[in-house]
Amino acid sequence: MLTVIPIPAFEDNYIWLLRNERHAAVVDPGDAGPVLDYLARENLALTAILNTHHHGDHTGGNAELLAAYPVPVYGQQRPALTSVSIAIAEGNRVALPELGLSFDVLGFPGHTSDHVGFYGHGMLFCGDTLFSCGCGKLFEGTPAQMTASMQKILALPDDTLLYSAHEYTLENIGFAKRVEPDNEALLQWEQEALGLREKGLPTLPTSLSQEKRTNPFLRFSEPGLIDAVSRHAGRPLSDPVAVFAATRAWRDQY
Ligand code: ZN
Ligand code: FE
Repeated sequence: MLTVIPIPAFEDNYIWLLRNERHAAVVDPGDAGPVLDYLARENLALTAILNTHHHGDHTGGNAELLAAYPVPVYGQQRPALTSVSIAIAEGNRVALPELGLSFDVLGFPGHTSDHVGFYGHGMLFCGDTLFSCGCGKLFEGTPAQMTASMQKILALPDDTLLYSAHEYTLENIGFAKRVEPDNEALLQWEQEALGLREKGLPTLPTSLSQEKRTNPFLRFSEPGLIDAVSRHAGRPLSDPVAVFAATRAWRDQY
């Protein structure tokens, strides 16, 4: 049976590990140590590494994992990221036969220009593109690119589970409440998320339906959010890119 395990790393990263009885694949192993420990403890063989983007907290463990398991590394190739062995782009498919899985590659430029997501079996591994109630900072992409990436996520089925790479949920909810203080779904999610964190549990994966109701970066077509962001920006905004950009700018100053 397939299970997906969060392996905590650093302060707030999750390395997602997909496993059955004998094999495993990891998404964004920023650190090899906790992955190697888990594989040894559970007697699993690593079969693939998937990288959503090149940042060190997502790829820093590649080399050490490859020394122990010479497996394919799927990602977008960058000169600085020599550990990627299979270059991928939107429209490609990543097959993990030992796990009986295959994922479609979605292009998510915005946080970085090489960011991708892996979508299949009702799951989206979205790295630093989308967090619960938040989204990645625009280090390399434009608001227009990131809005298009958000629209690709919005087009997926509502019950898609979103596996983000960071536990930022409570912090993000703090900002989301500034934007939409009367959003009931948001206040309810805050209570649930607080309960999970008190027990030391992850708030992820989240679901797309939940994020549609609570995540300000997916709500650029909601009249209430448009009003709040326009008021904060001091000018009327309407098109999705302008609303998204102003929401992101607000978050960056928050
Ligand atoms: Zn990143
Ligand atoms: Fe990150």
